[in-house]
Amino acid sequence: MRFADIPGKQELKTQFINLVNNDKLPHAMLFVGPEGSGKLAMAIALANYLQCQDKQPEGLCGNCSACAKSLKYIHPDIHFAFPCGKIEKKKREDVISADFLKTWRQHLIKTPYLSLQDWKEAMGDASSVPNINVKECKDILRKLGLQTFEDGYKVQIIWQAQFLGKDGNRLLKLIEEPTPDTILIVIAENEGMLLNTIVSRCQIFKVKKFNDAEIKEYLNAQGTAVVPEQTYFLANGDMGKAIKCQNESIAEFSDMVLNWMRAAWQKHPDTILPFSDQLAGLSRDQRNQFLEYTIHFFRQYLIYLYTKDHSKIRLSDKEKDVVLKLVNFIDMDKARQLLILVEKGIFLLNRNISAKIMFTNYTIEIGSILKPTAA
Ligand SMILES: [Zn+2]
Repeated sequence: MRFADIPGKQELKTQFINLVNNDKLPHAMLFVGPEGSGKLAMAIALANYLQCQDKQPEGLCGNCSACAKSLKYIHPDIHFAFPCGKIEKKKREDVISADFLKTWRQHLIKTPYLSLQDWKEAMGDASSVPNINVKECKDILRKLGLQTFEDGYKVQIIWQAQFLGKDGNRLLKLIEEPTPDTILIVIAENEGMLLNTIVSRCQIFKVKKFNDAEIKEYLNAQGTAVVPEQTYFLANGDMGKAIKCQNESIAEFSDMVLNWMRAAWQKHPDTILPFSDQLAGLSRDQRNQFLEYTIHFFRQYLIYLYTKDHSKIRLSDKEKDVVLKLVNFIDMDKARQLLILVEKGIFLLNRNISAKIMFTNYTIEIGSILKPTAA
């Protein structure tokens, strides 16, 4: 990961390059920004640049021995800590990031734009709450207390640092009295999720969400020649989501929403069950995307009902046709109820509820929202 691999954010990149080159990089930094905004990618690009032995004006050289390691995520002086899940035959309090390092590297090589949910699934533990435990904090202190391997900086990146909890206070001494060659980068969505004692001692850098042009630039570089408009709507600045949209077919989602509403409206097992089967047969990512799409769709739908103005809504012409087909059946109040229901569905799906049962129940519930009295 190098600065050039991240689209846009030029101001922040230049700021980091100048801080490094003027030897002014703070010893404790906090990167905050929404999910998918590239905080981790930026932290890695900065760490790699810091280690490069032949720094160029635009970023790392890519050819020195440090770059050879850092670009493969195996630089011995760049350390990662992240929330960990369960490991069989190991006590939860003994599991630390080192146990998952191989999986972590594999995932970073695939993409650095990973969500917490992606990471939980990669660890094979999608449903439980991961953590960064006391043993991890001790390990961080131990590693940073060691001599550097390569005569440069020791960099510690803590991803999803909100999982530190109170144990994070063990790191305060490190933040307050850092050794000259130690750099700590703490990553979280916002400051409010972290211990005040840590936030107040870090210099904060805000990483803004990506705009549509930056998403396009990245996906084009990844080999997607034409990015469907829906991708931008669904991603809403989250690069991880945008990448997933490219991997899955989202073109038919608006038809599926329409069919879902029809099946619910008919309130008959012959239409409800096959449709629930179809939804349950999607992959987990597709199901999430479909529900996120449905939320996006009904939010735009509500905007349309409020404004009656086609130009105000972020939907394609085909989707606007679907809106017009639904306006006679779904008023503002019903659309709001649907939104609440579907939002709950995303939460439930990520907690390993049977998709088939959930979609069957939902279709029945949608039916009673659409037609409150027996038809
Ligand atoms: Zn280099």
